[in-house]
Amino acid sequence: MTIDILTIFTEMFDSVLNASILGRARQAGLIEIEATDIRPFSASKHKNTDDYPFGGGAGMLMMAQPIADCMKAVCEKRGVPCLSNLEPHESAGVRRIYLSPRGVKLTQKLAQELSKEDHLILLCGHYEGVDQRALDKYIDLEVSIGDYVLTGGELGAMVLADCVARLIPGVLGSEESPQDESFSDAGLLEYPQYTRPREFEGMAVPDVLLNGDHAKIAAWRREQAIAVTLERRPDLLKTATLTEKEKRMLTVFDDRTL
Ligand code: SAM
Repeated sequence: MTIDILTIFTEMFDSVLNASILGRARQAGLIEIEATDIRPFSASKHKNTDDYPFGGGAGMLMMAQPIADCMKAVCEKRGVPCLSNLEPHESAGVRRIYLSPRGVKLTQKLAQELSKEDHLILLCGHYEGVDQRALDKYIDLEVSIGDYVLTGGELGAMVLADCVARLIPGVLGSEESPQDESFSDAGLLEYPQYTRPREFEGMAVPDVLLNGDHAKIAAWRREQAIAVTLERRPDLLKTATLTEKEKRMLTVFDDRTL
């Protein structure tokens, strides 16, 4: 997969792209991620990327022209179309995404969908946002990383790139798997986990994890995953994959849950 990031702060990506699992995946050639500076594409004398909003109001807006020209250059370099002319949820292997508090909320399900694309182009906004015409013409999807307002789209682009990249086959080592994780196939939160030592500050590891009985361990983990989801995110149980027995068991705790 290729991820291109259009930003006026390329330096923010240096450490994130080079460290840990993303850094390893890039070195192994599993994923290519590049941040492109929008500023040199500005046609203005001083390479400005923002201007006052028509109609007044606080703050500045990112201008359409530098974004459009940056998008065209990146698309031309990669040999992909740059105009957004797709129906929502349709894709030609490339998705042009604007990070925005007005976007659809980023979930594990959306990350899984995006991890199947060949190419993502992420546009980071700043100031009060972006001239709507750049979004109308060059963006397929707006994505929000949560119901709060950041100063810029860069942190959102990092979050999106990270959670999508780790779903690409081979990016996680064999010892790290996205299968049993929170929000994965079963739609539950993850069960509690323990590592050495067996006892820490008077707290012992649950016996069931030490007896080598894999069926019992799996049953305990499943029970714990359901219990922690019920306690912290009961909303997830409405769409989780549960057996009839588990559903009956849950109605005993809370008949409003299902
Ligand atoms: N005026 C905009 C509004 O009220 O919706 C907020 C602009 S925000 C200060 C500047 C930039 O940060 C946005 O253009 C967007 O790229 C990014 N941003 C802010 N909050 C975000 C969020 N929750 N998810 C993704 N990107 C966000």
